[in-house]
Amino acid sequence: MTSKEYKKQRKINNRLKQKLALIFVVIVLALVGLSVRIVYINETNGEKYTKKILQQQESNSLTLAYRRGDIYDRNGTVLATSEKVYNVILDPKVLTDHEELTEGCVDATLTALSEYFSYTKSELITIYNEKKTSSYVVLEKQKTKEEISELQAKMEEKDSKIKGVWFEEGYKRMYPYNSLGCNVIGYTVSGNVGQYGIEEYYSNTLNGTNGRSYTYLNEDLESEKVIHEATDGYSVMSTIDVTLQGFVEDAIDGFMERYANAYRQGEGGAKTVACVMMDPRNGEILAMASNRKYDLNQPYDVVANGLFTEEEAATLTDEQRLDALNGLWRNFCVSDTYEPGSTVKPMTVAAAMEAGIINENECYYCDGAQVVVAGQKPIHCAKRAGHGMITLEGSLMFSCNDALMQIAAKMGYNEFVRYQRLFNFGLRTGIDLPGESRTDTVVYYVGDDAPYPNLAIGPAELATCSFGQGFNVSMIQVASAFSSCINGGYYYQPHVVKKVMDSNGGTVEEMEGTLLRTTISEQTSAKVKQYLYSTMYGEVDPNGNSATGKKARIAGYAMGGKTGTAQKIPRGNGNYLVSFIGYAPYDEPQVVCYVIVDEPNSDYQPTSSFAQEIWKEVMQKSLPYLNIYETEEPPADMIDEYNATHAEKAEPEEENEGEETVKKEDSDEPIIDPQTGEVVTPPDLSGDPSIDQETGMLKDLTQDDDYPSDILVVVQPSLDETE
Ligand SMILES: [Zn+2]
Repeated sequence: MTSKEYKKQRKINNRLKQKLALIFVVIVLALVGLSVRIVYINETNGEKYTKKILQQQESNSLTLAYRRGDIYDRNGTVLATSEKVYNVILDPKVLTDHEELTEGCVDATLTALSEYFSYTKSELITIYNEKKTSSYVVLEKQKTKEEISELQAKMEEKDSKIKGVWFEEGYKRMYPYNSLGCNVIGYTVSGNVGQYGIEEYYSNTLNGTNGRSYTYLNEDLESEKVIHEATDGYSVMSTIDVTLQGFVEDAIDGFMERYANAYRQGEGGAKTVACVMMDPRNGEILAMASNRKYDLNQPYDVVANGLFTEEEAATLTDEQRLDALNGLWRNFCVSDTYEPGSTVKPMTVAAAMEAGIINENECYYCDGAQVVVAGQKPIHCAKRAGHGMITLEGSLMFSCNDALMQIAAKMGYNEFVRYQRLFNFGLRTGIDLPGESRTDTVVYYVGDDAPYPNLAIGPAELATCSFGQGFNVSMIQVASAFSSCINGGYYYQPHVVKKVMDSNGGTVEEMEGTLLRTTISEQTSAKVKQYLYSTMYGEVDPNGNSATGKKARIAGYAMGGKTGTAQKIPRGNGNYLVSFIGYAPYDEPQVVCYVIVDEPNSDYQPTSSFAQEIWKEVMQKSLPYLNIYETEEPPADMIDEYNATHAEKAEPEEENEGEETVKKEDSDEPIIDPQTGEVVTPPDLSGDPSIDQETGMLKDLTQDDDYPSDILVVVQPSLDETE
């Protein structure tokens, strides 16, 4: 570099230095100015801005809870709903900041909280001191609007010193009918996780999506809110009718009380009583219940739900508690299996007729027992003395095991098993409820089709299965199969939900009856229906055999039904599961009702009259409610009962004393058989040894000690087996 160039460079450097110095001075001055400004702002408006920041901290990014959809009954009555509730949240950090600004905030806040909620002030002070650095302490959960409103009002007062408290919105699941329909409805944990029933099966449908709100400061330092709204869940309409459900549960409760301590001391009316009512025209379940009931609003409470006393509950381990509760929550009607007994006889008869193996004119001779395997003990009929020569209709009317064994033997393994599957025995029905039992290992198969060698059907199994012993079913299977037997042969998938609706009540999906298959023809169905009518209303035959379903009759109606009396394993212990399944009205069945009574509390269990009693009580109330009216003259032996019930009904309305009532009271009036139109005379049953003279019922002379248990114990019952 030359000296000229060097001088030039120095000149530039000096000028640059001067400029830099100037910039430095300006920056310093600006900083001083800003500091002064900050001090000034702090002095004059500091509080305003601090508040802004605090506000910001209090309401930044909140989850907005969705509302889980409701569950309605078929008429729109609310069975499960979600009510808005509030968690009370303390933000100790914000409270501390406020305290620094305005003395007395901590004291005012904790005092107010102790006044409205379940904490003492000293407890709150401890919480506050321990969690000073936290921003989120849940003090109270699921408070209603009313429960927080006073505190809320106090917080909104001018100059309120209550700070760092806010209310987090959420929903609480409520069941207005408590235990009614508990097995079908189910409950929720954590507000939106369904357990059992519709709550579990339709949990995803009922749930929605959470929303979120964000707060931020805009350019003018004002807080702005952005809200992404929550999407509420869909609601579902059940096929259940609360009124019918109430009739069913009342009848079950009544039975449990009536027969409590009747034989086994300290026990209710039976081990289990359960009932399924469905519409055979589409598979809709109208009511479903058992004596295992629990309050959906407090499903975990073993004391309130009657499982244990306070003292007992205190000694329970968690496992014992849960075991007991699981037994209570389980839906017997879909999850438990048992040997059905004679209620499946209509299906055996229908199958044999449909397959063209028997015809309606056939007769069977019942000598009281049938030797099925040469050299082995015979398998007995319920009537040890034998029913004598009976018609096909008689085989159902009198529930003759001997005739049914002969029919099944004619069918052979292939046809018998084929029809069992057609009627869905061994398969799940696919009902829209969780926990339906698998029955594929509690039925028989033909030869190599058997998943296990012991499930291959043999002559003894064929014989016992024909009258409902040796294989297991669930209640929903029997109700669905029976429905197809009397509705013209249409097997509908049973279901408990008929409609899915959005939060505005608009229909999202409608579940019409799903026809799975046809089981039998209309003609066969009509015949079976007629036989089932006779099983309730038929006359005593020339051999003195009496219809077995008489106790369930309701005067004025025509209907049909079948009894069941299944001896439980181990055989010979005197334990029975008795049942009754029936339909009404006779012409166009609108309702099927199935009742089981497992181990009735009696020294003499094997009589289906226990189940008929419940069935009659339920149907007597349900039929008028379903607008199914009386069309028939009462049977001769029911005139007194008919008059008594109708006098009760007519009493309040005096002007009702019309000609009709007078006629019915006149017992000299000839009795007309509604089927034949002929005049009938009531049979004289006195002196018939097979008739219980007290009840008028067929005496049960069922299998006792020498019953061939070696033949029958083939399939173990799986009362606890579910998947
Ligand atoms: Zn018989």
